Amino acid sequence: MDNNIFNILKKYFGYSSFRQGQENIIQSIIDGHDTFAIMPTGGGKSICYQIPALYMNGLTIVITPLISLMKDQVDTLRENGVNASYINSTLSQKETNDTLMSALSGHLKILYVAPERLEQEYFRNAIKDLPVAMVAVDEAHCVSQWGHDFRVSYKRIVPFINIFDKRPILAAFTATATDEVKKDIINLLELREPNSFITGFDRDNLFFSIVKNENKFDFITKYLAKHKDVSGIIYAATRKEVDSLHQKLLSQGYAVGKYHAGMSDNDRSKSQDLFLYDETKLMIATNAFGMGIDKSNVRFVIHYNMPKNLESYYQEAGRAGRDGEKSECIILFSGQDIQIQKFLIRQSIPSFDRQRIEMKKLNDMINYCMTTSCLRKYILNYFGEDYEVDNCDNCINCTGNVEIVDITLDAQKIISCIYRMGQNFGVTMIAEVLKGSKNNKVLRFNFDKLSTYGIMKDYTLKQITNFINTLIADGYLYLSDSEYPIVKMSKESIDVLKGSKKVVQKIHIVAELSLSTDNNLFEILKGLRLELSRKENVPPYIIFSDAVLSEMCKYYPKDKISMLQIKGIGELKYSKYGEIFEKKIKEYIKETNLTPEDNKATLIVPEILSKKLPTHIETFNLYKKGLNLSEIAKARNLSITTVQEHILKCANEGLNVNLDSYIPEEYKDLIYEKIKTLGTSKLRPIKEALPDDVDYMAIKSAIFKYTSKNKAI
Ligand code: ADP
Repeated sequence: MDNNIFNILKKYFGYSSFRQGQENIIQSIIDGHDTFAIMPTGGGKSICYQIPALYMNGLTIVITPLISLMKDQVDTLRENGVNASYINSTLSQKETNDTLMSALSGHLKILYVAPERLEQEYFRNAIKDLPVAMVAVDEAHCVSQWGHDFRVSYKRIVPFINIFDKRPILAAFTATATDEVKKDIINLLELREPNSFITGFDRDNLFFSIVKNENKFDFITKYLAKHKDVSGIIYAATRKEVDSLHQKLLSQGYAVGKYHAGMSDNDRSKSQDLFLYDETKLMIATNAFGMGIDKSNVRFVIHYNMPKNLESYYQEAGRAGRDGEKSECIILFSGQDIQIQKFLIRQSIPSFDRQRIEMKKLNDMINYCMTTSCLRKYILNYFGEDYEVDNCDNCINCTGNVEIVDITLDAQKIISCIYRMGQNFGVTMIAEVLKGSKNNKVLRFNFDKLSTYGIMKDYTLKQITNFINTLIADGYLYLSDSEYPIVKMSKESIDVLKGSKKVVQKIHIVAELSLSTDNNLFEILKGLRLELSRKENVPPYIIFSDAVLSEMCKYYPKDKISMLQIKGIGELKYSKYGEIFEKKIKEYIKETNLTPEDNKATLIVPEILSKKLPTHIETFNLYKKGLNLSEIAKARNLSITTVQEHILKCANEGLNVNLDSYIPEEYKDLIYEKIKTLGTSKLRPIKEALPDDVDYMAIKSAIFKYTSKNKAI
């Protein structure tokens, strides 16, 4: 293990440990291997190429699709003291030349460019004789036609690599994990015997939920009322929907921005900047917004409509909580969303084969919205990861943060009306009959003679429509596949009519997001950060993320040593802002008369010891004392699986753990053989292929040893 990379991590980025996978990826690159890494959005891909770039001699070129975000990435690096630049069409010729000169002089370590730039002769000529150590391809799925963001110019990467006498190391990064895309990236970028890494897809700070039975707009207003001061994104399916939602929220006095492909470039980038700079807290957007957005303090991502597949969903939802603080990802689901997505697939994809694939993905997405078991488990299994815990305690299905209302009687009224109307009409017409409307169509069909006519007249039409949609979302009714969807009864509806099944509606209890810190100080420090950000013309989170401020409010650091203990403050950041923040904190302590007796936290962190140890290290300490896994689990009140994960994490960080002791000698060869033939992405098939007394820890340990020996998967 190379200590230098830890030093770089601490010095430039202010972190003292790597996240899962980062270290192996970095090591692979600096060992000179082409490297391919799949990490979830927000998982921490950037430092996987930034640290090798700082470690190796020569220049690193980062290819990234969105020019609008390069400045942001470069600003962040410069704030951290890294010599980075970008070249794109927003620069003048002189600025471009200056940047190239600084690359030629050997000062520049990281250069961001868009793939289109690689086609330009003068750029290739200027670069070709430089010692380029690595080319890092961000959002590498853009090279694949199977990916959702295909970019023709990604095809220019291979010819570009070939202009160098000495081929740079090629490293590709993406968050998309489907098989076609994986294969495509390796083939189309011509990666040479790459080491491939798929890091855990779990984002444990994200809370997942589905809201099925409520009026969407009412939910949004209820939600926003409780989340006034935090940043969030609301994704809607169409431009029209974005415009209308934006208008409605504006008229209710919310400071909201919008973003979709129908706006001018100028309006879009203005709107994006206001959001990045925390001037508008809320962004309403289509999926055109967000690729590469690394605003770290997005506290919630709400999907106003169900997205078309889980790949897009997890990517968009993953924009919440990049700073590791608790954040929420919500889908507002209605039966019509299914129709809309089916319609869009049929409209936009000519090939029947592709349509079939997309329909299958859509089905998986619908099932995610319908499932009553753990949402996190569903997502992780979808991405091919085993998640053995049945209750994550961090999604709506596991926590049950809902109020339950019995709506059986209304459901019976609706279903019997549908039955009497011959199961031949759409949602609106059914609602009209239940309401007792006198519209022509109702009268023409003699529906005013039905016993169910007007049986729900005390409700508004909208409420009745919502009821019907609820029943569709819960599977009591379903919509036909025709152009004008007809509401049909399912097997379940008969049970409801007969009274043998109850129908309940779950109403979400919206809880306030709370940072576990001193909120008054948090507001003060946020104010200071905003002031500095305006002065320096960078977004606030580039100065310090919310997570950093929140740690300050927990530990009240008052000097350099304690400041440097805060996750996210490196030496360079400290030298720039440390003292200004220290001063504010000291003032606050004085003004509020905080004393160590009043507030234990003010005693804080003159040294590492006073900070809580990372949980896996606490496990490690017990392990070192000789406790076995179940003893540790008992002592720490954790599940065995968690303790196993801790031990593997320690091994991954290079701590001295004897994994061999978990692999039974007599089955050792057999285990490795199964790993080799079945691959390492799923545990269950391996477990099933082995005798019962080989447990998961044996398999995980063997996989760990196997992959660290043969890093290529
Ligand atoms: P993505 O994988 O989506 O590109 P980023 O590289 O933008 O994610 O990282 C997401 C966030 O995680 C950033 O705020 C980054 O500073 C933070 N981060 C990355 N690595 C670590 C680490 N080892 N410890 C703590 N935070 C980290």
